[in-house]
Amino acid sequence: MATRQRTQTTLTHAGRDPWSNHGILNPPVYHASTIASRTLADWEQREAQRFESYTYGRTGTPTSDAFETAMAEAEGGFRAVSMSSGLAAVTTALSAFLKAGDHLLMVDTVYGPTRRFCDAMLKPFGVETTYYDPTIGESIADLIRPETKVIYLEAPGSLTFEMQDVPAVARLARDRGIVTMIDNTWATPLFFRPIEHGVDLSIQAATKYVCGHSDVNLGVVVARDRETFLRLKTTATYLGNCAGPDDLYLGARGLRTLAVRLAQHQKNAMTVAQWLQTRPEVDRVLFPALPDDPGHAIWQRDFSGASGLFSVLLRPAEREALSAMVDGLALFPIGASWGGYESLLMPANPARYRSATPWTGAGPLVRLHIGLEDPADLIADLAAGFDRLNGRAAA
Ligand SMILES: *Cc1c(COP(=O)(O)O)cnc(C)c1O
Repeated sequence: MATRQRTQTTLTHAGRDPWSNHGILNPPVYHASTIASRTLADWEQREAQRFESYTYGRTGTPTSDAFETAMAEAEGGFRAVSMSSGLAAVTTALSAFLKAGDHLLMVDTVYGPTRRFCDAMLKPFGVETTYYDPTIGESIADLIRPETKVIYLEAPGSLTFEMQDVPAVARLARDRGIVTMIDNTWATPLFFRPIEHGVDLSIQAATKYVCGHSDVNLGVVVARDRETFLRLKTTATYLGNCAGPDDLYLGARGLRTLAVRLAQHQKNAMTVAQWLQTRPEVDRVLFPALPDDPGHAIWQRDFSGASGLFSVLLRPAEREALSAMVDGLALFPIGASWGGYESLLMPANPARYRSATPWTGAGPLVRLHIGLEDPADLIADLAAGFDRLNGRAAA
């Protein structure tokens, strides 16, 4: 490990070769569908060289290569496959390793649209899904069946931020020949490198922190080894799944500043989260970076940082009081997605998205993305919001 380049350095340099392009620092954007062959012999070679050379825009260009090379290096994997969105990355990875008759173990706190794909698409195609408690750890062994082919993880959990014992689950799966995949969007490869912890495929909604400006949908999956990569890439090719060149360019460009942006998101999020913990309106802040969070020990053991996304469980409040609070916020528009430069708020009801364990939170839950604003302004905005929640006019 001592000689491995630190991830921050990799993110700055990987996937670029200025000297192959006049010294221009950023890789060029290739817009391509047809990639012509000069001779009959070249044309006949295409199928064999499909993933090693450029044969058609959909299967890869120097622009997708630049982004994928950087992501594969950052995640410490063999190669990456880019997709048109984070959700396309998720569904392509699942489709690649499951077929009719197979069984999938899916974490109960997974990103909502991933759950919908299992229930609405995989089920009619004959794949059975069992949702498991994110805190199950090694007891996941009790849920494994002979036909279990994939264990899917996401840490921390969507909306409720439970941590998973990723190395324990990955070890158990590996012993049984079961493929593991994880949605690593929250941590990014900067703060967690799943492949080093035994996971086979690391999925990233590059839409979020990698692109970082709320203006791109882009997904990428990094595969541990050649065999895993080939299966994933073949499936992406069969499905016709590919990303557009300008989005890939923005993905590669976003990587260059990921470390400074994430450091600031983390710092701001800690400041706001710790302030929220002091508020009487708050029941609990769900954020594994906080020392009293139930997932803190695992987060501290496996992760090297936290991003700017967490949830706040409020004490029970009337809907009108909550809307008075939320509607009047100046710096927290209500919005899905996150990872951009700005703060966002999203109300959520976790009870609707889980089945393995019940959700016991009594009050409303809001997910906050803490952006790059000065946290003092964010806190002032939220404090005025709490005044409205409590029925007092803002100062
Ligand atoms: C947003 C998100 C996705 C999907 O990304 P899109 O580009 O919006 O399709 C997948 N997983 C997680 C954890 C996400 O937050």
